[in-house]
Amino acid sequence: MNDGFTPVPRCWICDGERLTPIHIARFDLHEYVQQDPPLAAYTGAAVPLLRCDRCGFGQPAALPSLPNYFDRMYDQRWSDEWVRAEHDATYKDAVFADVLSGLTARLPPSRRRLLDVGAHTGRFIATARRAGWNAEGLELNPKTGAFAAAATGAPVHQGNVHTFDADAAYDAVTLTDVLEHIPDPRMVLRRVHRFLAPGGYLAVKVPHGPAQRVKERARARIHRGYRPSLADNLVHVNHFTPDSLSRALEREGFREVTVNPGAPELPPGGRAARFIRRLVFLSARVAPGGVHTPLALNLQAYARRD
Ligand SMILES: [Zn+2]
Repeated sequence: MNDGFTPVPRCWICDGERLTPIHIARFDLHEYVQQDPPLAAYTGAAVPLLRCDRCGFGQPAALPSLPNYFDRMYDQRWSDEWVRAEHDATYKDAVFADVLSGLTARLPPSRRRLLDVGAHTGRFIATARRAGWNAEGLELNPKTGAFAAAATGAPVHQGNVHTFDADAAYDAVTLTDVLEHIPDPRMVLRRVHRFLAPGGYLAVKVPHGPAQRVKERARARIHRGYRPSLADNLVHVNHFTPDSLSRALEREGFREVTVNPGAPELPPGGRAARFIRRLVFLSARVAPGGVHTPLALNLQAYARRD
């Protein structure tokens, strides 16, 4: 038996109460059976994913009641080789370059203090420092965080946005592939807002919820036996649309909010596959309203602290 679930009655973004089921998230945590039996006990459970009628945001109908469920799921004991390979991997470089160019265009050269929230193995910090940014990181996982600090020479603080505090210390804060993983995302935005100095910018990259579902359903039609799995184990707990992402930022006091199609990850191998991903991204970016279409598989937002 698992610890059960705690209902989430209202939309985390707009407080709307009319929520429509769109998907079922299933749990398979059997690989934790030795490391964390109470976590593994959720294997076989399922919870509906709901879409808010008012703002389009997607979130689970309930969260696991097991204390620190998410921290326990992300407590992965990675090997040294895997950590190094992640730091050396190039698949996110197009995303990182896009984030830096958006921030560079918005901030004068004198403002280059940056905090990367969810710094992982530090590849983005290294990229930012080479481009002249005074970049630091915040990372929950002690192993990847220590690697990131050693590999970049940058301060990498251990913790999350709730344990860390930095009052108006940064000109830029980045949340790249982080916000989709943390329940109650407005609380995260509230915290990072105070890390920014006045006039500083937040850059947020998340998957585009509805577009990812279209892609997963298409994949399921092509490959028999493939099951759309983006929400499984609640790895993706938040499913943003452009409107719900800008609404979340504005409600937490950010101004000059823009949301555009985000750059794609480009996995190694398969030049044709990489070409198609770039083409889909560029099509979404040049098409009027492209950010609202399934071509925009990712969303890249910028928002200013007054
Ligand atoms: Zn809503």
